[in-house]
Amino acid sequence: MAIYLDSNATTRVHPLAVEAMLPYFGDRCHNPSSGYGAAKAVKQAIQTAREQVASLIGAKPSEIVFTGCGTESNNMAIKSLAREIGRQRGKVVVSEIEHSAVLRPVEAMAAVGFEVEKVGVDAEGRLDLERFRAALDPARPGFVSVMWANNETGVVQPMTEVCEAAKAAGWHIHTDAIQAVGKVPVRVDEVRVDFLSISGHKFHAPKGVGALYIREGTPFEPMVRGGGQEAGRRSGTENVPYLVALGRAAALMEEAERDGTLARVARLRDRLESALGELLDQVEFNGSREYRTPNVAHVSFGGCAAAELLPALDAAGLQCSAGSACMTGKGRPSHVQKAMGYSDERAFSSLRLSLSIFTSEEEIDEAVEVIADVVERVRGGR
Ligand code: PLP
Repeated sequence: MAIYLDSNATTRVHPLAVEAMLPYFGDRCHNPSSGYGAAKAVKQAIQTAREQVASLIGAKPSEIVFTGCGTESNNMAIKSLAREIGRQRGKVVVSEIEHSAVLRPVEAMAAVGFEVEKVGVDAEGRLDLERFRAALDPARPGFVSVMWANNETGVVQPMTEVCEAAKAAGWHIHTDAIQAVGKVPVRVDEVRVDFLSISGHKFHAPKGVGALYIREGTPFEPMVRGGGQEAGRRSGTENVPYLVALGRAAALMEEAERDGTLARVARLRDRLESALGELLDQVEFNGSREYRTPNVAHVSFGGCAAAELLPALDAAGLQCSAGSACMTGKGRPSHVQKAMGYSDERAFSSLRLSLSIFTSEEEIDEAVEVIADVVERVRGGR
């Protein structure tokens, strides 16, 4: 069996989430909008899932809107905010290190005349708060979109400071928390974001299901209109099995935060990093040590191109990514690492090794051996 260290790309569905969802493909297949008792029970299952997702992030269940994926959640929030500020020539401020699921929609806004400013990060991958504050303009309507944690480096952003500054300017805040939820505490009752995006497949729910948190009282313009599901905020017959699985996975992640499972993941990540640092020279660990999710080691191996390492690692039974999965094969250095000020050489020689709650100590020890061997071989031209 291959060793899977690409959990920021996607995760396996938790067996308990699979178990929870299966009946909704069969005996409980009813449309939750139907009127009979069995359908009402299905509707109740969706409500339970909503409560489970809300509980994970400290929200009210009514503030959770289920979506088809994280990309959709980001687009829903950004397009609604764009409509709100559009009539008065508003401004949008994002970080340079956002995922394409934020960058592309805001670039589309720029193409139709909005002012969009991208604020950089420091060498550790954390938002430049001084420049961020300077980019806000209380005299104009605007919104910010800053990710909670980065998908490549795992670096967690200063969300409390971002929210304080944006609120002082009277602006709304969206955060892409897709790589943070289920890995670090994300609490909307403590950090005053207005919109927050979630994707199920990053924390052991299936692909193709997500959620958007919308703070109560925040104006919202639906992107998909129709039968009025999700309180009119996202119409379409609900994907009940996936929503049930998303809810179950959310509850399991809440448990993992409490019972030390995530702390164990961090220890394994640390074990991986210290073993690689001991065995190999010219190894650099990228991103903040202090502010990061517990599951990512982002490592540059001097003298090795990730493009050469990846197929050799794959052949040796280790699956991981260079930068982010979406960038693999595009032949450009990652925009995240460029924003951190890295040379092309360092950016092209880095791997993202991302763990999950299913990663074992044995897998980490084996991964270290495989990586050390492959790096030595590539360096030696073998
Ligand atoms: N935002 C971030 C930070 C991500 O890592 C991803 C997934 O790679 C997405 C958005 C897109 O989420 P989804 O795959 O659910 O559309």
